[in-house]
Amino acid sequence: MNLNRVIAIDGPSGAGKSSVSRIVGRKLGFLHVDSGALYRIMTWQCLVAGVDMEDPEAIVAEARKVAIECRPENGEIAYYVGGEAPGDRIRTPEINANASKVARLKEVRDIVTALLRSMTKYGDLVVEGRDIQTAVFPDTPAKFFLTASAEARAARRHREEVEKGIAGGGTDAVKASLLARDKIDSERRYAPLMKADGSIEIDSSNLDLDQVVETVMAALPSDWK
Ligand code: C5P
Repeated sequence: MNLNRVIAIDGPSGAGKSSVSRIVGRKLGFLHVDSGALYRIMTWQCLVAGVDMEDPEAIVAEARKVAIECRPENGEIAYYVGGEAPGDRIRTPEINANASKVARLKEVRDIVTALLRSMTKYGDLVVEGRDIQTAVFPDTPAKFFLTASAEARAARRHREEVEKGIAGGGTDAVKASLLARDKIDSERRYAPLMKADGSIEIDSSNLDLDQVVETVMAALPSDWK
């Protein structure tokens, strides 16, 4: 049996999961795992292959073909497809608009869930996503649900896109895109975005990054720190 530990951090887009997970991972020596990137890679490969994004069977057939190589590198699990890192190719507005359509399909979720569970072989993990505390690692004692107002989330995401030079519109466009994704993610049939019983909810609208990190650290089992 694998006894490596998992910190599960879920929440809607732009709630600050990535920054918090990275810092907590670094402080504890746990590998950071970005589960959303796996759904983004599936979406990217479907778009590259010209799959009709309104055709679930075609999406599943393409997703089954995608081989994602996982390597622990620099404190995180890095992903490679055909030997190449996807980089910002999976952060475009087109992928933002289509990822939830891919992620709502049970067969795709099963592939990603199995891959995520297999990663405990690499070490202790801090995994961020939408269904980590509810479906992927429901038995972990370290479960967090990170939220923030739609305005705070859109402002953060827009700032990140500007910094990366991939902004496709203003804050209002980002907010509309976030809310559209949240709606599909929360209402889907399989593993919807929700807070698990026993998880700790943190509203980061009026907290800075350090305060959120401190809240997470303080709530971890004492022998993990
Ligand atoms: O976290 P990120 O915004 O990169 O995730 C992209 C999309 O992947 C989400 O909108 C959601 O549809 C899906 N996702 C998911 N379950 C996860 C992580 C992401 O359904 N654990």
